[in-house]
Amino acid sequence: AIRGAGAPLDATKLKVQNHSTPSQPRANDELVFGKTFTDHMLTIEWTKQNGWGTPEIKPYGNLSLDPAACVFHYAFELFEGLKAYRSRDDKITMFRPDKNMERMNKSAARICLPTFDSDELIALMGKLIEQDKHLVPQGEGYSLYVRPTMIGTTAALGVGTPDRALLYVITSPVGPYFKSGFKAVKLLATDNATRAWPGGVGDKKLGANYAPCILPQLKAAEKGYQQNLWLFGPEKYITEVGTMNVFFVLKDNATGKKELVTAPLDGTILEGVTRDSILTLARENLDPKEWEVNERYLSINEVAERARKGELVEAFGAGTAAVVSPIKEIGWQDENIDVPLQPGKQAGKLTEQIANWIADIQYGRQPHGNWSRV
Ligand code: PMP
Repeated sequence: AIRGAGAPLDATKLKVQNHSTPSQPRANDELVFGKTFTDHMLTIEWTKQNGWGTPEIKPYGNLSLDPAACVFHYAFELFEGLKAYRSRDDKITMFRPDKNMERMNKSAARICLPTFDSDELIALMGKLIEQDKHLVPQGEGYSLYVRPTMIGTTAALGVGTPDRALLYVITSPVGPYFKSGFKAVKLLATDNATRAWPGGVGDKKLGANYAPCILPQLKAAEKGYQQNLWLFGPEKYITEVGTMNVFFVLKDNATGKKELVTAPLDGTILEGVTRDSILTLARENLDPKEWEVNERYLSINEVAERARKGELVEAFGAGTAAVVSPIKEIGWQDENIDVPLQPGKQAGKLTEQIANWIADIQYGRQPHGNWSRV
């Protein structure tokens, strides 16, 4: 990895400035995703000359930036999203933070912002979570969403390599994405707007990838669909859904064999931590005599065809926010592809099973290697 010049990021240099009036936790049912934040934030400045500066935990508050700062003009911005969970025995653990740090460093390197030692930022995020631990909610589906962010702060309008940056982390107590169990969504298969392309930056978590996706989403919403199913190329390959990776369950009627499919990591899709966790758990838990787990290209035409033959079994989105998000219908050209759900339920059988496997690990009921970091 490209390292910033100068001092490395060093968690032992942390300085803490306490909030004068710590806030009371909100009732669980008042938690709206990403609307309220905890009392403290973590900030670390970087300069080309001196490298990483002193990490500081301080009261949550406004940043002061020069209006010429390159983040505002040329989108020198990247972010991450992960969660910390409180187990029944009151341990607080981050879920696979090493994966988020690896991805964050790849995003930083791609837009010439400084990279850093992942373990140091994991240690610092741990301190930040500990600082506001009374605000980490308890209960199934509740967690603390952690948002590491990095921006270029060079105050000059020439387009070039930033020589100053700010890394900061804020945290937000959040509730379940679906308040009362699953709610299956309707997607519009979208080929008139393209989220990412070969040689582009769709596999990096850059803010610049997100703003252009809102207008297509509004257009889908006007037609009664909650999210876009992003297609790519003349083959109409399925890439992602909204801001999630996407999985399909197909069944071969001739052999009875089932297949769990998601798009391959070819540079056009985000390398989701949830995606990776699902593939790992599916390969560990599903009987290979009955199942195939594949990362392969799947076109919307194949999905439509398999649905016509009665071979489309389930579909779901996968991401940190909702973990899994069942899909019930896909609008494509003039038809609606129906995705089966279990009778009287809002999710398919495997979708439900996967959600349970992951929740068991996240809430500390079932350990899995080093996926949970206290
Ligand atoms: N794709 C996109 C475009 C996303 O923004 C996200 C959310 N980070 C994901 C997929 C899912 O990634 P993860 O499982 O790491 O949250």
